[in-house]
Amino acid sequence: MSILLVVCGLLAPKASAQSSVVTPEKYFGFIPGSDYMLFNYEELINYFMEIDKASPMLKMIEIGQSPMGKKMYIAFISSEKNIKNLDRLREINKVLALEPDLTAKEQADYIKEGRVFVLATLSMHSTEVAPSQSAPLIAHELITTDDPLVKRYLEDVVYMIVPNHNPDGMDLVVENYKKYKGTQYEGASLPGVYHKYVGHDNNRDFVSLTQEDTRAISRIYSLDWFPQVAVEKHQMGSTGIRYFVPPSHDPIAENVDAELWAWMGVFGTNMLRDLTNEGLAGVGQKQIFDDYWPGGTSTSSWKNVISMLTEAASVKEATPLYIEPGELQASGKGLAEYEKSVSFPLPWKGGWWRLGDIVKLEIGSTFSIIKTASLLKNDILKFRNDLCRREVEKGKTEPPYYYVVPAEQADQSELISLAALMTEHGVNSFRLSGNYTLDGINLKEGDIVYPLAQPFRAFIKEVMEKQEFPVRHYSTGGAMIRPYDITSWSLPLHRGLLSHEIKTRDLDFEKLLQPLTGTYNPLASEYKLPAVFPATSNGSFKAAFIALQKGLRVSRLSKETKADGKVYGRGSFVIQGGDEALLNSIVKESLTTPGSAVQVSGIPLTDVTMPRVALVETYFSDMDGGWTRYLFDTYKLPYTVIHPDEFEKTDFTKEYDVIIFPSSGKAVLMNGKPGTEGSAYMSNYHPDYQKGMGKKGFEKLLLFINNGGRVISWGQSTDLFAGMLEITDGEKKEEFVLPFTNIAEQAQKEGLLIPGSWVRMTVKQDHPLTYGMPAETGIFYRGQPLFATSVPRFDMDRRVIGVFPDDDLIISGFGENEEKIADKAAMLWLRKGKGQIVLYGFNPQFRASTPATYKLLFNALFLPPVE
Ligand SMILES: [Zn+2]
Repeated sequence: MSILLVVCGLLAPKASAQSSVVTPEKYFGFIPGSDYMLFNYEELINYFMEIDKASPMLKMIEIGQSPMGKKMYIAFISSEKNIKNLDRLREINKVLALEPDLTAKEQADYIKEGRVFVLATLSMHSTEVAPSQSAPLIAHELITTDDPLVKRYLEDVVYMIVPNHNPDGMDLVVENYKKYKGTQYEGASLPGVYHKYVGHDNNRDFVSLTQEDTRAISRIYSLDWFPQVAVEKHQMGSTGIRYFVPPSHDPIAENVDAELWAWMGVFGTNMLRDLTNEGLAGVGQKQIFDDYWPGGTSTSSWKNVISMLTEAASVKEATPLYIEPGELQASGKGLAEYEKSVSFPLPWKGGWWRLGDIVKLEIGSTFSIIKTASLLKNDILKFRNDLCRREVEKGKTEPPYYYVVPAEQADQSELISLAALMTEHGVNSFRLSGNYTLDGINLKEGDIVYPLAQPFRAFIKEVMEKQEFPVRHYSTGGAMIRPYDITSWSLPLHRGLLSHEIKTRDLDFEKLLQPLTGTYNPLASEYKLPAVFPATSNGSFKAAFIALQKGLRVSRLSKETKADGKVYGRGSFVIQGGDEALLNSIVKESLTTPGSAVQVSGIPLTDVTMPRVALVETYFSDMDGGWTRYLFDTYKLPYTVIHPDEFEKTDFTKEYDVIIFPSSGKAVLMNGKPGTEGSAYMSNYHPDYQKGMGKKGFEKLLLFINNGGRVISWGQSTDLFAGMLEITDGEKKEEFVLPFTNIAEQAQKEGLLIPGSWVRMTVKQDHPLTYGMPAETGIFYRGQPLFATSVPRFDMDRRVIGVFPDDDLIISGFGENEEKIADKAAMLWLRKGKGQIVLYGFNPQFRASTPATYKLLFNALFLPPVE
């Protein structure tokens, strides 16, 4: 390889320009990590830009934008030679990651020429400030050090640092900290989410990739740079171990390669050793966090990256905390007592805990990772290519061999978005060029095929199959290790798409596979009005929302109708008007093929209008509210955010048609206090934000309902409407109980546990709430609430819209004693006076990752008035 020679020829003495690099202390006016001191995102990036200008060892590359429009970067830090040679090194990364057929000689040459790329993404959770605050110190130290060892590490390693993963959140949190600094309320939590939409849930977005910042980060390891090692830097609570390093606790994701787990252990154990050597106490591993669901950037472990997490004990942003020794405790899995143990050899004894202490751990762990990557450079690079080869080989020798997603689907918009998502994940997609029968299934020309014989095999398998939780126990015959988080994420299931897992390898079938390059787009460019959009497609609702706002006439079919050669179900949208250019732009956005130039005369239609929607969002890091905003923005559905403490002064009847309550605790909604009714407690928010709707605000809501308003509520917020309710209208006082109860508590006492699984629900057909829905669907369910109805009195009524079947309940994920939910209601329609309430026991839009149930929410917005 001639390139090797060229590279060797570039070896040059280190430039002494490093001395002109401004120190963090001089730049920021304080040493990062000092008590009470924080810089914001712009200051952080500007400092890195300064180093970029001053040093040939650091290069900033823009990778995208945050949801609020801030530029995001990777800072590449390495030897001058490596930085100059980044393009070539990136090519080598790509070959090692994606090329399964290198000869031994080729592999050896690439390993020799290649470098280990270590990706670090910092402070995605914005209150976990220390990793980003440490970044300038780490960068400065790396490029100015005289330590020959560190210099040597940087010849082997390219350290890729995303100085902050969540720029919007960083600025919100730093600004909030400064606002209260020096006051009684120093350290008060930020009211709202620390992100445009999703706040702390941003580490739950790496399968669905809904957010711009998530996509920017995911592209680094899926499409652009193929680092071999990745670490995501976090903080946790204040009273446990000081620093968590890999590996995690059981259970682990079963599709991830065996050797990859061992590699995480190598890096983690070296961190434990190096930090202990520096005298830093309180480091532990194999505890608290399991790796069953590698959320966050750890999804890259399904893409063959040695992908890890560190977690430091928190202070109050930059305000030190004093921890009494008696307050220190073991919690979660893996450490039963806060005592010296093999996975926690040097317990921290308590006392003052400062931002600067965390910064020391961040610096120490970073240098340790770089050192390990350097010492084991050749092994790591070889492992990456061996693993690529191994995964491709498994895809040829172990079933399943292919996932096929038929082109013919009830919801075309979800098919198109799934295809785009898989491409964004770096998966190779194919289309079937002829009809073929395999495993007894008739596959059709045009179907999308994901063969498993590709480097990201583990990822494809993980997201295309249904999940089965790996049951493990703490000891033989001992307690089971219960799930830490959700247990289902199957993309086709959660999207309501049909897909086939094919367990037979067939070379003739493979001859029919044509690479799908570019975007999968089966839509024509020209359609004519009037157009009919099928109720089965989520995109049709988007088309209706846009058309209504653009002033077009939008109606729904009152009965099943044949148009343009196809049958359209009840509730399908008919759009009429004169502007065909507008129609065609709507089709593009809706990702849905409409019936074109349909004959509408004689077809029974019901016109719809755009409801005026209020979306209730609390100040309490309301991620579910944020996800709902995200969904509505994506579907072009206008809404007004209203906080519970604004209820009293709001004239609901005049201003709104629909009030939406995402999942939030009743105590928070009513009183602005977390906890449960009767045992609510004060939180870390400024008192201005510890306010709820109060009795008066809630009565206004009930009056709005009684007068014909609509309320949509899911999850915990449904508790608002259970039990004795009271309306005072002038002199008139009315007490009533809506005809339902939440029976989840009893079921849980009897052992029900569903931590977040895909559960079967039977759907009431031919109801305006279920237009476009199949007779049976999966819902994303977490075991509560669970409804029972009763015979209503007076001016009330109820219908069960969704009910759990009597067996075969769990489709994907974990369930324990799940028979407790059999035949119980999961979704209700209630009437009180002229008003309507729709209650969901599940989140219909859970983390914008359950499109199969979006229609149950969208239909509620178009509910016709009660007779
Ligand atoms: Zn975190």
